[in-house]
Amino acid sequence: MIGKVELVKKIARLAKEKKKLRLMEVCGTHTVAIFRSGIRQILPENVELVSGPGCPVCVTNDDYIDKAIEYSRKEGFIVATFGDMLKVPGSRSSLSAAKAEGADVRIVYSPLDCLKLATENQSKKIIFLAVGFETTAPTAAATVLAAKARGIKNLFMLSAQKLVPPALRFLLNDTSVKVDGFLLPGHVAVVIGADAFKFLSEEFKIPSAVGGFEAEEILIALISLLEQIDGGRAEVTNNYRSVVKAEGNVAAQKILSQVYEVADVEWRGMGMIPASGLKMRDEFAAFDIERVEPVEIERIEKKTACRCGEVLRGVINPTACPLFGKACQPLHAIGPCMVSVEGVCAAWFKYGGSNFKWEEKF
Ligand code: SF4
Repeated sequence: MIGKVELVKKIARLAKEKKKLRLMEVCGTHTVAIFRSGIRQILPENVELVSGPGCPVCVTNDDYIDKAIEYSRKEGFIVATFGDMLKVPGSRSSLSAAKAEGADVRIVYSPLDCLKLATENQSKKIIFLAVGFETTAPTAAATVLAAKARGIKNLFMLSAQKLVPPALRFLLNDTSVKVDGFLLPGHVAVVIGADAFKFLSEEFKIPSAVGGFEAEEILIALISLLEQIDGGRAEVTNNYRSVVKAEGNVAAQKILSQVYEVADVEWRGMGMIPASGLKMRDEFAAFDIERVEPVEIERIEKKTACRCGEVLRGVINPTACPLFGKACQPLHAIGPCMVSVEGVCAAWFKYGGSNFKWEEKF
């Protein structure tokens, strides 16, 4: 394999005398990997990396968090969640505040952990907060299938699972979003396949490249984007062939479509996007807590200067938010982009962006 220095030199050659180019990654793991490896700082000045809606926790709206909190406060309920949801602020509170007040909120590392939780707590209703993209949705679906097969009747999902391709389509139809190419999410592509992104080149003529998560893999995907731009081409290249197939993981797709159907869902910062989420099919309604025991929540319009919505669309970088690093920091976050480990604001705060002065942090 060519070394990192050679890859960076190749990027510099390809970017030379080009206009300013904005390349967007749409995966929280890529966001963090790019910062960790220092790739932003070594790119030519005219190549800007911007982050899109790649953090599932960040794109989950306040209503969902408010509902999760409401359930957690109900007698006889246990809410099970991945740790990064705990501190995400809803419109008035957070799950961690509810937990401190006595709500039964448990951290799990896989939805499959909830099968044990349900078996050991048969007098309680266990709700798993199914937040994620195509990467994690098959495991949630497998959990529902396992619960059904074992006759477990006290395990439910509160679902906010989202699909990446419709969000990219939304961004490309939004005139405030300027993107010259997409670094596509390797983990999502493992499940849905590189071909699921073909509409980007065919309909929108946008260069796109599926990339892995090591520094070299990211650089190779960026080179593919720059080669396409240089040659006036738009393709979807698969630069993560060790794990991504053109057709994806067909077995995982089957499990997904067995349990879920596609639905219109709301994204933070983007509103309702048609066919961009998953809801449980009627035959699995007994595992959908919103159909078994719905809760009413009062919709509250939060008055805040948080610009997470624009950050998630790649319209601004976090440092353009007046609260960044001041009122909003990981230990007292105002918006979800500063809470999640994969949040763009948290990554900029932790690692610093090219325009970010470290002394501004304190
Ligand atoms: S820095 Fe904080 S307040 Fe500003 S956009 Fe990010 S999460 Fe929201």
